[in-house]
Amino acid sequence: MDHSHSNDRASWLQGPPRTCSTVPSSVANPWRLILLGAPGVGKGTQASLLNKELHACHLSTGDVFRAAKSRNECDLTPAMKSALDFMRRGELVPDSTVLDMVRERGVCLRCAGGFILDGFPRTLDQAEALTELLSAEHVPLTAVINYELPVSDIVARLSGRLTCEKCKAVFHATERPPKSTGVCDICQGRLFQREDDRPESIRVRLEAYDRSTFPLIQFYKKAGLLLTVAATGSPQDICAKTLTALHAWRSRYIASA
Ligand code: AMP
Repeated sequence: MDHSHSNDRASWLQGPPRTCSTVPSSVANPWRLILLGAPGVGKGTQASLLNKELHACHLSTGDVFRAAKSRNECDLTPAMKSALDFMRRGELVPDSTVLDMVRERGVCLRCAGGFILDGFPRTLDQAEALTELLSAEHVPLTAVINYELPVSDIVARLSGRLTCEKCKAVFHATERPPKSTGVCDICQGRLFQREDDRPESIRVRLEAYDRSTFPLIQFYKKAGLLLTVAATGSPQDICAKTLTALHAWRSRYIASA
């Protein structure tokens, strides 16, 4: 069954006590993945393609902040209001805010359908906190996928990116244009350019990635969980490469168990 399309990810996007429209029943070997890579390598696009193939939910911390942005100002906690200012500038939101948000959503990490984390963890402290959280819940990670792409390609991808206001689907002005300008092919929602996809914010985000997130590659390599995939080619090509790497990874793991 394809959980992805029918699942509105309400528990993740809006937080507890909201429950998802479809809660997967037990899946034999749920995939529990982290997607790493600089902003713009296409983690969000891959997460939604992988979600269709693997049925694990796409959990993006950036999507939670964007969902909060469209909420009434008075409903936002002071921490969330300040988080949105960091985000607008392209800076990382403080670890304490991100970790409170993820801990609140522990139900998504324990989900029987597994998960695909996109945009979290982004600092070593977040990665260490996640390791503790998962080990307390007895949910082991399957693998960490590291998407690699040259910086010039990253900038081109980010500056043409268009995101659906409603379902968060991602399009690109030239590479993956919607059928009708400004309108989402999937849900007919309005497409917009993220504030942090403006040139000055892109630069800040790439610097934050080099400084804070790049060290996670070493962290997960040491943990024996890292799989590197070249993020070149069409989204479908990249997804196919990822699936090949993941299935090979899992069969090696089963063979050695
Ligand atoms: P993304 O959609 O993953 O590119 O995230 C958009 C923005 O949300 C980032 O540039 C940060 O400002 C903020 N953000 C998302 N996830 C995190 C995180 N794990 N740690 C810190 N900031 C984050």
